[in-house]
Order: sequence, then C-alpha cells, then structure tokens
Amino acid sequence: MRLVLLGPPGAGKGTQAQWLKERFGIPHLSTGDMLREAVAAGSEIGRQAKAVMERGELVSDAIMVGVIRERLSQPDCARGFILDGFPRTLAQAEALDALLAERGEKLDAVIEFAVEPEVLVARIAGRFACAKCGAGYHERFKRPRVEGVCDVCGSTEFVRRADDNEEAVRRRLQAYLEQTAPLVAFYRARGVLRTVDGMASISEVSNAIARALEDVRS
Ligand code: ADP
Ligand code: AMP
Repeated sequence: MRLVLLGPPGAGKGTQAQWLKERFGIPHLSTGDMLREAVAAGSEIGRQAKAVMERGELVSDAIMVGVIRERLSQPDCARGFILDGFPRTLAQAEALDALLAERGEKLDAVIEFAVEPEVLVARIAGRFACAKCGAGYHERFKRPRVEGVCDVCGSTEFVRRADDNEEAVRRRLQAYLEQTAPLVAFYRARGVLRTVDGMASISEVSNAIARALEDVRS
C-alpha cells in the first residue's frame, strides 16, 4: 500500500499514521520528523533546514526530494509506505511520480483531510509528543491513558515543537494554502484522491479512512 496523507498542519495526519502503519505493516515517513531528526543530529541538511522550519516556511524541493529518494530506497519501503508531509509542492509531487515510475510503482491512494482552518490553531496549541518514541497527544483530544505516561513506551517525558507557536503556525498555514493545496486538484485528476472529514473525532476519522481504503489493495 503506497499512501500519501494530505492536509494542513494540525489536520491529524500523524495521528492517523500511527494506526495505519500497524494495520498495513508499512513505515510512516514523516518528512517533518526526518528534518527534526536532522536538526537534532546537526547534519548538513539539518543546518540548512533549521531556520526555515522555525519560520514556518518550506525547505527547498531539491533537499526534500533528495531526502525522500534516499528513504524510499531502503528495504522497509519495498511493500509500501505512508507519506506524511510530502509532497508539499507541485514540483515535489511530480518528482515523486517520477521516482515511483523509475521503480515501476505508483500511489494507491492520497487521503485528503478536509479541515476548516479555525480548528487547526487549537489543535496545534494543544499538541505534545513523547520525547522518547514520538507518539503524539493532545491536551484535550488525546490525553495519555495514564496521566503523564506515554501509552506506547511508558516514558514520562514529553516535548512540544519549536514551530508550534502562533507566528510560525500562521506562516505554515499560508504555505499550505499557497503551495500545497493545489495538490488536491493534481491528485483528483489522477483518480487517486479520497477525501475524509478531518473535523470529526479521531476515531471517526480513522473509520472514514478505513472505509476509503476498502477497495484499495493492501
Ligand atoms: P498533523 O500531523 O496533520 O500536523 P497531528 O496528527 O499532529 O497533525 O494532530 C494535531 C493535534 O490534533 C494533535 O495534538 C492530535 O492529538 C490532535 N488531533 C488529531 N486528530 C484530531 C481530531 N480528529 N480531533 C481532535 N484532535 C485531533
Ligand atoms: P511537519 O512536521 O510536516 O509539520 O513539517 C514541519 C516543517 O518541516 C515544515 O513547516 C517545513 O518547514 C518542513 N517540511 C517538512 N516537510 C516538507 C516538505 N515536503 N517540503 C518542504 N518543507 C517541509
């Protein structure tokens, strides 16, 4: 199963990827997570991306396509993958098509999360993640089952993202509307787009995605 999760920051892509990767046994490729790891590791890509990410702007297509090319070539992607946060521009979408075509592959589905911009700020403001395993939570909508303890790995340390502040969120939303939203029409024209109501509860969105993927081979 080769999937793309498409939607603005805070739409719920990472949240849904957490169960999709278990359900289909395929890796969750979040370019945001990859870049945050590169920044933490102090690699060349991390050095180039850090300030751009802090401002809430997009890292260059050349860097991102290179990152994805390298990641898709790893063995765990042979049976499929869940892309989250990539592609984000038409140039990235075209490069992804070309990369997959080289391998004789194509996308099975692009899940679009339809969300009103008003809810995104509240979702991002309440977001936090496990410092150890990265599992995502929300102060109101998805608290750990045991207060202060990660459901997945038991860690008691949590982190918030440096770019989850009002100024950067505003820029990220603007970047989405200007540069990423055109991908909806791009994938609709290719017949792979499936839209779910991202305003519903976390479990309702999961059910809608499961229904949307019923007729897609796994
Ligand atoms: P994205 O990966 O698209 O940026 P996340 O999956 O990190 O978004 O979700 C943003 C925040 O909103 C997280 O704190 C998450 O727990 C919460 N969240 C995700 N989906 C929903 C939903 N359907 N309803 C309410 N809160 C949600
Ligand atoms: P995310 O975790 O998906 O919200 O991404 C966090 C930040 O990483 C974005 O605001 C961008 O600065 C950068 N980023 C992640 N993926 C991409 C991409 N495909 N293209 C450009 N920039 C990206």
